Amino acid sequence: MRTYLRLLNSVFFLAWLLANAACQHGRMRVLDVRLEKGLDQSYHETGQYREHEKIQHVLKHLPEMRAESLALIASRTGLAVSHPDRLAVVLLDKQPACYATKTLIGKEETLTAVLDTEAIVFGHMNTAQVLSHELTHLVMLELAGDWYLRLPQWFREGSAVWVADQIRELGERILIHSVIGEKYIRRFDNGIDNANHGIDDYLEDGLAFAWFEQEYGIKAVQRSIAAVMAGEKPDRAFARESGLTSAAVLDKMSRHAAAYLKDLEEEVEYSVLRSSWRNFSLCMEDAGKECAPVLAQLNRLLQKQPDSFLAAGIWFRLGRIHWRQDRLKEAAAAFETSRRLRPFLHYRVLFRLGEVHIKAKRFQQARKNFEKIMPICVKFQPQMREALRKRLCRIYQTLGLPEKARQNCQ
Ligand SMILES: [Zn+2]
Repeated sequence: MRTYLRLLNSVFFLAWLLANAACQHGRMRVLDVRLEKGLDQSYHETGQYREHEKIQHVLKHLPEMRAESLALIASRTGLAVSHPDRLAVVLLDKQPACYATKTLIGKEETLTAVLDTEAIVFGHMNTAQVLSHELTHLVMLELAGDWYLRLPQWFREGSAVWVADQIRELGERILIHSVIGEKYIRRFDNGIDNANHGIDDYLEDGLAFAWFEQEYGIKAVQRSIAAVMAGEKPDRAFARESGLTSAAVLDKMSRHAAAYLKDLEEEVEYSVLRSSWRNFSLCMEDAGKECAPVLAQLNRLLQKQPDSFLAAGIWFRLGRIHWRQDRLKEAAAAFETSRRLRPFLHYRVLFRLGEVHIKAKRFQQARKNFEKIMPICVKFQPQMREALRKRLCRIYQTLGLPEKARQNCQ
């Protein structure tokens, strides 16, 4: 097999390492990758994370992770890929997220899973799961061709989430995000449909498949998937398998999703935490006077479920209360505990630690935190960007950096 690598710039070093490691297993070609239009600039960002231990770990284990993913996909969906060597995996910096795409390798169209190094380094994701997720898209795309791209989102994302076993993780993320006050989390409000597909819809889609498997068995899921790959519409394939109408299938899928989240909420007494939100807001508004009730509530919850995933959200809130009441050491410790329990809270923690530094008049440290998360926020948390910009404006003014201040103060 003739292989070729064009080393455009340093970020390719990652692809190069990856491709070499893979080639030793004889399963992947060395890549001459061309990205989709509009993403070209991504290549000019450095391979800044290539020495990072998490990236090194992924690069080292990628060939077997990839093989395991394909085996998992085959066992869950019943689909076997006809040309495994045409499914490539690339690690790149500064990607919008992880995704599956078609790329040209030489003159040959290659299906490529692109994993974002930042998402790996900052723990936004479980790499093995995300790899299985993206490869599920690619295996189906290879089999169904462009028909796959016209399938409804719930089928494409649902199958990938279900195969990659991301359901529990996604459910926990939704609850934690709503606990720490993320506004973008909506809760199962758009059903199993194609419109306005948001971050929380992935869970709903995955649960649609989980429900079907639970009710009719994995063979029924596999027969439905095979029918869809051969050109049938997903709701019809699932309806035929179940003996229900298409509308009834979609309705039951939505109901199952809602019931799942309700169960998850009950399991961790989410309602108590949720109802403490009002007390928390009062405490934030009027420091010192109204914080006792929410502190008592949060500490009680923490004692009851110190190991629950929601503890990360509870510690995050405790950190904010300590910050509000000027206990800066305790605040920093609480935020760090929160990050340790759930690494994907990384940039939110850095943001809040920046706030702690400002209060302590450690402006250089605050600046470091905010500058570090700015690019991540632009990508994952656009609504935080404005808050960051305002803070950086003031910090640069305080530090006597008028030129930098101007850039952030408009
Ligand atoms: Zn996906």
